[in-house]
Amino acid sequence: MAGKKVIGVLALQGAFREHQAAIERCGATAKKVRTREDIQKADALIIPGGESTTMGRLLESYDLGHTIVERSRAGMPIFGTCAGMIVMAREIPGYQQYSLGIMDISVRRNAFGRQLDSFEAELDIRNISDRVKGVFIRAPFIDRIWGETEVLCEYMGKTVMARENNLLTVSFHPELTEDLTIHRYFLSMI
Ligand code: GLN
Repeated sequence: MAGKKVIGVLALQGAFREHQAAIERCGATAKKVRTREDIQKADALIIPGGESTTMGRLLESYDLGHTIVERSRAGMPIFGTCAGMIVMAREIPGYQQYSLGIMDISVRRNAFGRQLDSFEAELDIRNISDRVKGVFIRAPFIDRIWGETEVLCEYMGKTVMARENNLLTVSFHPELTEDLTIHRYFLSMI
């Protein structure tokens, strides 16, 4: 488990407070990160949901991207949820927007369409739990993976959770439920 390790939660925009609270409910230490120094001090990083275009713009204007990319290459565990998934992706078909490009995934934005704008679903996550509640809010999904990326969960035939070594990503919002399964799994990667 994380012990005295500090989990940084990128706090530029989006649902960062909820992630901080979830990590603390797991008994670990979470800190909001907003500067390059904060990122250097953290042992792991969560990139929350929100709006990926805005988050990308803020990452650029705060000049944080290359520090995150460097730490990621050095093995720092990084967990992106929803917009955070988009920000981690190497490809975002149809959009010209900033992304860190650290994970070998191609991500479709707002991919479940208008009919399914926001919904909840019970998810079966490989080797973790077959009953995790997923809250999806204008969620993306992964339409292609390559390299060392592994699919951990599919819903309606779409990949909604994947891992590539030190990188973990989900389409949904585990920080908006009481269930700490996904946060605990991330902590186990540290
Ligand atoms: N639709 C948002 C985007 O494309 C993501 C939504 C979310 O993070 N809940 O950035």
